[in-house]
Amino acid sequence: SGSLYVVATPIGNLDDLSPRAARVLAEVALVAAEDTRHSARLLRHLGLHRPLLSLHEHNETARVAQIDARLGAGDDIALISDAGTPLISDPGFVLVRELRARGRRVVPIPGACALVAALSAAGLPTDRFLFEGFLPARGSARRARLEALAEREETLVLYESPHRIRDTLADIGAVLGQRHLVLARELTKAYETFLEGSAESLSIRLAEDPDQARGEFVVMLAGAEPRRGAAMQIDGEALLRALLDEG
Ligand code: SAM
Repeated sequence: SGSLYVVATPIGNLDDLSPRAARVLAEVALVAAEDTRHSARLLRHLGLHRPLLSLHEHNETARVAQIDARLGAGDDIALISDAGTPLISDPGFVLVRELRARGRRVVPIPGACALVAALSAAGLPTDRFLFEGFLPARGSARRARLEALAEREETLVLYESPHRIRDTLADIGAVLGQRHLVLARELTKAYETFLEGSAESLSIRLAEDPDQARGEFVVMLAGAEPRRGAAMQIDGEALLRALLDEG
């Protein structure tokens, strides 16, 4: 039977589409895409005219049987989203889970992902990070989520749209105070910018220069400082054990 290829597409710069991704898109029988009009443009740019099938959060479950049947008939299918890696704050999770449960072969074709691109150039610790995707749209729910994350020591990574970036910065400032932030904007595009500072200083920058509030954002926050009390307790225990071992 056929395979589902989960294909990463560019997040801005079309040169970021890998040769392997281009080859897969040229060879599959069908391309399942979040927004078929948007993806038709990408395929045209590649000189391809593959049949497209829409697959978005509202019809994903309904599409599973249809896609599974095509795979069963021997067709290879590609899954793409509007930008970057499918399933990363994009549709595809239900499809991949269901196809795997049915024993189908699911193959990743890796490439651009805003989260990884942003982290790779931000200068924040990357040994451990927490990806939270989009915070809730409503202010109260957003602040509650930030409060729940306040003690996490990993670098925190968020996606944000231009409509909400100012509100999100204001909430980060209100809930987390002077935390160090890096704002990656328009990655791989002409106006790619990295800004850093506190939520408050970044809010001022965006208010002073509204161009800086346009486009797509990855918001990265330094993790919380390790709690001193907790660290001392662990040290105390280790010390006690060491002393007992001596005796
Ligand atoms: N699947 C995509 C990926 O692999 O990164 C993410 C899709 S999500 C619906 C869209 C969000 O990703 C945007 O709101 C923004 O937070 C982030 N994003 C996508 N492209 C970006 C870019 N070129 N620069 C900065 N952020 C970007």
